[in-house]
Amino acid sequence: MPEGDPPLSLRDLDAIGVDRLKNAGPKRVSALAEMEIRTVLDLLQHYPRRYLDRTRQARMAELEADDEVFVVGRVERSASRRTRRGRTLVEVVVTDDTGRLKLVFFNQPWQEQSLRAGRTVVVHGRPTRYQGALQMTNPVVDLVGDRTGRIIPVYPQSEKAGVRTWQIADHVANALDRCEARGIADPVPGEVLRRFDFVGRHAALNGIHRPATLRESSEARRRLMFDELLRVQLEMVRRKRWLERNTAGLSHATGGEMVDRFLSRLPFPLTGAQRRVIDEIAADLAEPHPMHRLMQGDVGAGKTVVALCALLTAVQGRFQGALMAPTEVLAEQHHHTMVSLLGDLSVADESRLDGERPLRVELLTGSRGAADRRRAVAGLASGEVDVVVGTHALISEGLEYRALGVVVIDEQHRFGVEQRAVLRDRGPGSVMPDLLVMTATPIPRTAAMTVYGDLDVSVLDELPAGRTPVATSWARGPLEEGRVWAAVRAAVSEGRQAYVVCPVIDESEVLGVRSVTETHEELAGEGGELAGLRVGLLHGRVSPGEKEATMGLFRSGALDVLVSTTVIEVGVDVPNATVMVVVDAGRFGIAQLHQLRGRVGRSHLASHCHLVGEAATEEAEARLEAVVASNDGFELAEADLELRGEGTLMGERQKGRNDLRLASLRRDKEWVAIAREVAVEMVDADPDLRRNPALAGEIELMLGDREAEFLLKS
Ligand code: ADP
Ligand code: MG
Repeated sequence: MPEGDPPLSLRDLDAIGVDRLKNAGPKRVSALAEMEIRTVLDLLQHYPRRYLDRTRQARMAELEADDEVFVVGRVERSASRRTRRGRTLVEVVVTDDTGRLKLVFFNQPWQEQSLRAGRTVVVHGRPTRYQGALQMTNPVVDLVGDRTGRIIPVYPQSEKAGVRTWQIADHVANALDRCEARGIADPVPGEVLRRFDFVGRHAALNGIHRPATLRESSEARRRLMFDELLRVQLEMVRRKRWLERNTAGLSHATGGEMVDRFLSRLPFPLTGAQRRVIDEIAADLAEPHPMHRLMQGDVGAGKTVVALCALLTAVQGRFQGALMAPTEVLAEQHHHTMVSLLGDLSVADESRLDGERPLRVELLTGSRGAADRRRAVAGLASGEVDVVVGTHALISEGLEYRALGVVVIDEQHRFGVEQRAVLRDRGPGSVMPDLLVMTATPIPRTAAMTVYGDLDVSVLDELPAGRTPVATSWARGPLEEGRVWAAVRAAVSEGRQAYVVCPVIDESEVLGVRSVTETHEELAGEGGELAGLRVGLLHGRVSPGEKEATMGLFRSGALDVLVSTTVIEVGVDVPNATVMVVVDAGRFGIAQLHQLRGRVGRSHLASHCHLVGEAATEEAEARLEAVVASNDGFELAEADLELRGEGTLMGERQKGRNDLRLASLRRDKEWVAIAREVAVEMVDADPDLRRNPALAGEIELMLGDREAEFLLKS
């Protein structure tokens, strides 16, 4: 390498194949490829899973029965034989300077080959006494090679690919040695490094792979974890600023009379959180650039009122408002709620003698009759319709708005970024309407910063006063299930209503799962648990008209029980319903169960949620237990993150390479927030990172083409 070459960037490292490393023949190269390690960058980002601190290893002479320890030794001999019951038994003897230890493996025939005489191994386990001597049965063994250092990295290895942790360590060491001459570039500004006392990137990569002390490895981890978070945040903040700069928005007049009148006529006082979020939104609406805000609020927190304030702010300034919901049932429900909350509000209209006309709210879904639809469509184009509520019919081709000012999208996770963009394009001229996304699936704040990092976030973290928390219990067996149906009958006899939710429609869909129609028959039919009650049925395959009719009956109290699929998951609001039964509850996710439970407990009446059915897996059991234990959506979101891991969360929005290898959205919460702050500072000082092309290039490399994709679509 010529002298004076610049330090290696991540892109440079990504351009060097692992085949260039020592001892990396074709077989090894393809084995590494199987582990997704193709380039030196991949290799350097294949971080140790843990470290062994050899000062803490036990000496074989001093082992005690039943103490969990690790020992390091050399294999003296290994042999396998069959037991009388036909199992393979591998016996290995390892030694250190102080003594010997026998290892016994059942049904792991490969250990004989793997633990060949002369190899250095790290053995974790609990010695037991057998025929007078100590031995370990099925211990965890890492082949670390002939390491001399005090700290030994243990890499995620692949039994299948046949690459051992010590082989990875050797390749990594070789790669790092060869980076010495040029060094590894560090594009993060020195000022930031000093502020948080971070080691440089080259040192960090060395420190994470071959630390001299555990402290060095944790400092290295802290630095590299920050880099991951910073890259994501820079991308998000840049995206957000780009929108703010490059889009023209409306500057709405806030604090107008119409919103005031609406609020003063509500039958309840706003919660503190509602007031705060309404103000946050008003401040955005008054700004000339388009709002791009996410409102998170637990089930029942009162998001609709807040959304209405935003929509009415548009209307009082002669613009239109649109609310898009993910399903017809939900759109209808919103329409219904809005009409009743809005009452007989009127809109200024100089063409009228009395100077005003009634506010006009329309519903637009795919299944509306042709005449209704025509009326709504014409009214939107002429401006006579002030607020429209609907499904994705709102973004159908050819639908025109005279002056769309504010868009609210409910349950964003069901729509794509693209759909948001389409609706935004419906603004007057090249002006973008303000956008409020609301979600009832709270995700932890720091996760929100990452997953929805291009949106501002408001949190409705307070339930209206006087709500009694929903009591939740889990009926695992038939005996307990009997009590659930008795509870439903009791509630109905007191004039209350109940939901029964089932996971799928026909039995044919998933064998052995109770279908909604079948459950309906079983419960309501002759001799059924709910025989004699008025039981309605609702699922995705009934016709829209019938669906609306059934919901109407339930709402009016003409049905006692509604058996349905999750079409009622979100938004349905019948305060008199106080019992929720979820059949086969183990098949639902935490967020879904919490949503379903949110359908009850919507008044001062005490409500109960019954989860019915056995949990098929340990994870399902943990989910159900979490839902029983907590009523707090944010807490449950944390539990969910814990159970499912963050991959799923990121997966919803983040395609391509997942850059979060070290950072954990749940463990490293403060660092997410810090990275966000630093990113805001950096982007505000240098919006396109023009002064730091190295960092910009690295973001592109690590986060893929998402940005390009996004910019083209906007
Ligand atoms: P969600 O946040 O789940 O969408 P909604 O907006 O549907 O909640 O509100 C749930 C119920 O609470 C509705 O019946 C609504 O009218 C009522 N509500 C909203 N805000 C308040 C409040 N501040 N006090 C009492 N009830 C409220
Ligand atoms: Mg709602």
